[in-house]
Amino acid sequence: MLLQQLQYNRKIVGRSDQLSQTLKEKITQDNVLCAHAELSALVNATNYKNHHSHSEPLANKSTVLYETVDVIRYMMATLNTWGIASKEFERAFEKKDTYLNKHYELQQKKWEGQPVAIIDIDDVLANFREGFSNWLDKKFGVRADVDSKEYYFITALSKINLNSEHVFKMFLDDEGFANLTVDTDNLEILWQLKHKGYWIHLLTARPEEELQCYMTRTFGSVSKIFRVMRLAFHQKSLDGAQSQSITMLVQ
Ligand SMILES: [Mg+2]
Repeated sequence: MLLQQLQYNRKIVGRSDQLSQTLKEKITQDNVLCAHAELSALVNATNYKNHHSHSEPLANKSTVLYETVDVIRYMMATLNTWGIASKEFERAFEKKDTYLNKHYELQQKKWEGQPVAIIDIDDVLANFREGFSNWLDKKFGVRADVDSKEYYFITALSKINLNSEHVFKMFLDDEGFANLTVDTDNLEILWQLKHKGYWIHLLTARPEEELQCYMTRTFGSVSKIFRVMRLAFHQKSLDGAQSQSITMLVQ
């Protein structure tokens, strides 16, 4: 289906590898606006205005079918525009599916007064500094001091004139978190706490998008031992910049 849509999309906007970033963004905006109109057509096929009384059913399966096709085709056109192939989309879909099912499972269990241990993920369970430093070395030839107290190794990065947040984003895009090694000693401590009856909160400031694809090595190791119970995202604002922390309850 995506290939079929691609044939059509090429007639409308041309080949994705010949589109500039600005043009891709503009096409995406157009697609989203058009999809929005199709979503309205879809919702209009149902009795969604609860403040009006409806004498007869409006929803028509055929309308739902064809309006859904319209919406999805605009989304496919957006994938075509960015050169995203079906395999890549399927992988992202699978990751999201794992996350959603896990998230659902987490909501089911209630805390009943058990003692709680709150454990940070990075540099407690996952060897973040070592992994980030190795990645920096491989990518930019920058040697950062793993024992430095800086989260993003700002001093090392400033020497080569790189913006630390931009570099961190590149690390994320390279799926850097997925490649971090696990501190097995600390994982063992978690195991012991679990056997003493503790509920464990895993706490992290990692970006939510990263966690949504959270079948990383750390979570893989943790979930082999513990059942992940609950995930919560907390938004907070630091000096006007949005930041968030995430807690994960495991048992
Ligand atoms: Mg339509």
